[in-house]
Amino acid sequence: MLNRLFNALEKTRSSISNAFKSLSGNNISNEDIEQIEEKLLLADIGFNTVENIIKIIKKFRNDDFLNEIKKYLITELPQKHNLVNGASSPMVIMVVGVNGTGKTTSAAKLAKLYKDLGNDVTLVAADTYRAAAVEQLRIWSNRANTRLVCNEKATEPSAVLFDGLTSALSNNSDIVIVDTAGRLHTYDNLMSELEKMHRISTKRFPQFIVKNIITIDSLLGQNSIVQAEQFNNHVPLDGAILTKLDGTAKGGIVFSLYKKLKIPVQYIGVGEELSDLEMFDPMKYVDGLFGIKNVK
Ligand code: GDP
Repeated sequence: MLNRLFNALEKTRSSISNAFKSLSGNNISNEDIEQIEEKLLLADIGFNTVENIIKIIKKFRNDDFLNEIKKYLITELPQKHNLVNGASSPMVIMVVGVNGTGKTTSAAKLAKLYKDLGNDVTLVAADTYRAAAVEQLRIWSNRANTRLVCNEKATEPSAVLFDGLTSALSNNSDIVIVDTAGRLHTYDNLMSELEKMHRISTKRFPQFIVKNIITIDSLLGQNSIVQAEQFNNHVPLDGAILTKLDGTAKGGIVFSLYKKLKIPVQYIGVGEELSDLEMFDPMKYVDGLFGIKNVK
């Protein structure tokens, strides 16, 4: 059975792999190569990576160049990495990002994923600017059967965070997932607030390992690189969740994020449901992009 990631990559794949399908060994013209280049760039694979793919096509044009490309692409991607695996202390995962990129949904999906793996999970609704986000998280947390800490009357995200971490400690939670308020990376006061939240978690709650993870909307393509870069200037980003992959042909952004900023995509959002989150796996990802199956 095809996996959900493979399905979510359908649009990206149809633009990329169709381009490759038209190539056949001996008859690769410069026009063909230009066309491929254009399609790969449109899928947001990033200029350097595309250049290297073209070099491989030229070098292996009479060979199995698709397989060579696949092997190369796997080296350009972050390894499969479970954020939580092997952690000796409880962990706080702060989900940060621009409004609408899928923070609240992803926070809930992460909570379910780690709850299903047997952890005690606390969700913290620290988006004090958007009552709907708190309500949404309440619904998700009920469905995922996780604890929720929220305070609709609070105006300070840091206050909710403080309460959330205190509650998580007293309940011996393994994982705390914090839904932060959405912010534009250009709003200095909101970014300072995020810095404050990071400071509170790391300085006031040394019992926790603190990770910041950014939600990247794959529909935004290369613009999201700028967003991630700016967030990274304020709080250290440990990884990214690439959301809405199911609705885009721009799935190649994973390469640029890792190559330019060294931010590994660790999870992929493949739909709007609670269980629509996949752990990133470079092999599966490249398979999904090219519709090819095995590295020799
Ligand atoms: P936030 O403002 O960053 O908290 O964003 P939300 O979590 O409220 O999500 C914004 C919209 O994107 C909602 O309609 C979500 O259902 C949708 N969304 C989030 N993640 C995904 C995903 O992986 N796939 C799809 N198709 N939609 C998503």
